[in-house]
Amino acid sequence: MAKSETEEMQDYMESDVVHDHEDKIQLPFGYGEIKGGMHIEMSKLLESYKDYLIKNDEFIEDNCDCNELIITANGVEWKNIQAKCVIFCEGVSTQQNPYFNWLPFVPAKGEILLVKIPKLKMNQMINKGIFVLPVGEEIYKVGSTFDWDDLSNDPTEKAKTHLIEKLDDLLKINYEIIDHKAGVRPTVKDRRPFIGIHPNHQEVGVFNGMGTKGALLAPFYAKQFVEHLENNTELDPEVNILRYF
Ligand SMILES: Cc1cc2nc3c(=O)[nH]c(=O)nc-3n(C[C@H](O)[C@H](O)[C@H](O)COP(=O)(O)OP(=O)(O)OC[C@H]3O[C@@H](n4cnc5c(N)ncnc54)[C@H](O)[C@@H]3O)c2cc1C
Repeated sequence: MAKSETEEMQDYMESDVVHDHEDKIQLPFGYGEIKGGMHIEMSKLLESYKDYLIKNDEFIEDNCDCNELIITANGVEWKNIQAKCVIFCEGVSTQQNPYFNWLPFVPAKGEILLVKIPKLKMNQMINKGIFVLPVGEEIYKVGSTFDWDDLSNDPTEKAKTHLIEKLDDLLKINYEIIDHKAGVRPTVKDRRPFIGIHPNHQEVGVFNGMGTKGALLAPFYAKQFVEHLENNTELDPEVNILRYF
């Protein structure tokens, strides 16, 4: 409440405490509302953009093996495609990329559950230790967890139990688990993205390290990186890979 009254938070926080949904959620003190929050259906966005690129003949589905990349006098060549520069956007796999394996990733595995909660009937996302995000048809995404040791993409019983415990603490109503997924976030030591051109190879660049906030950070920094590549504008020093070179 104190924060919502400060000037810099006026655009982001409602100032009233809401007492609603208390028959369904454990809310002994009500809740505060964040303004302008939204959910991007990332898989839908990526599929649509992929379709757009395919229609324009600008998409090749393949594994890019760095050993097949040839640095030429004018740029790079890969499978008979010539370009001025290649930008690697490989997520945590960049740790195996010989050009960028010096970047200090601290990958963090995360897991989510998809649960059906017919009686919840909420359009807002809830954030209370975990998030509960409505994705339609009475289904909610519940997450997430952090694990820095097991970096496989396999869902684990440990994370499932953790999320169930949190959800049981939060909800007063029944739910049914319908799916369980895992992924590895490309998180970074100083929690800032890795963006820039290789200091010794002007033909090779990287756009990575979006960590826990890819949806939020990638559009902003993609625009900045394009400006840098096309018009030689400055990259934010906080995200420039040169900070580690
Ligand atoms: C459980 C969980 C919850 C999350 N929640 C949020 C959230 O609410 N909001 C948010 O903003 N972010 C969230 N994130 C983080 C978000 O997913 C990441 O920031 C984002 O995925 C990073 O995008 P990226 O494209 O850099 O890497 P990735 O999404 O990892 O994509 C890299 C791609 O490159 C491909 N690839 C790798 N190597 C090669 C190669 N040699 N050749 C060809 N292809 C290759 C991979 O197959 C992959 O498809 C979450 C992550 C997890 C795990």
